Amino acid sequence: MAHMRPTLTDDEMWRAVTERDEDFDGAFLYGVASTKIFCRPSCTARRPLRRNVRFFADAGEAMDLGFRPCKLCRPDLPAYDPQRELVEQEKGRLNRSLHEEKRVAPAVSRRHLARLFVQYEGCTRARYAARMMAERAAELLANTEKNVLDVAHESGFESPSSFYRHFRERWNATPREFRETQRREKTCSSKERRP
Ligand SMILES: [Zn+2]
Repeated sequence: MAHMRPTLTDDEMWRAVTERDEDFDGAFLYGVASTKIFCRPSCTARRPLRRNVRFFADAGEAMDLGFRPCKLCRPDLPAYDPQRELVEQEKGRLNRSLHEEKRVAPAVSRRHLARLFVQYEGCTRARYAARMMAERAAELLANTEKNVLDVAHESGFESPSSFYRHFRERWNATPREFRETQRREKTCSSKERRP
């Protein structure tokens, strides 16, 4: 696997090791010179002395230097993040449900997903879904003649009020204003293209 060279400083990597910071898993690996074993930053093994620690970009580099992978954190295996997986799956489901125009229930509890979305996407699942629906609505407004209420319904909003609220939040304009701006821009650019 082609890894980017870590652009982290030794101090940053050492801090991640001492705090067992799992955000750094995948960013680098560290080995302990005295035991010749290498680990992921979040490994629960006993913390090494700093003077014994070496940093590596990937498992290949560590093994080339004669280090063996730790049996606890298995730094030789590709990083597996089941929670990230769950968020990605749910994003896929939300996308599909939007385009198939039908609602699907999430695979795990909404509360759990909301927490994961906040952790991985910086927003809740509901907010993420609303943002995607607002983007779908913008597409319909710009490219079809459908009236605003049909657009709201077709992009998955349950009520006109939530449509207006989320649309404004995403585009900082009402649906009508948005459509007018899009039209104006289209007319302008087609005029400019004329010789
Ligand atoms: Zn380990």
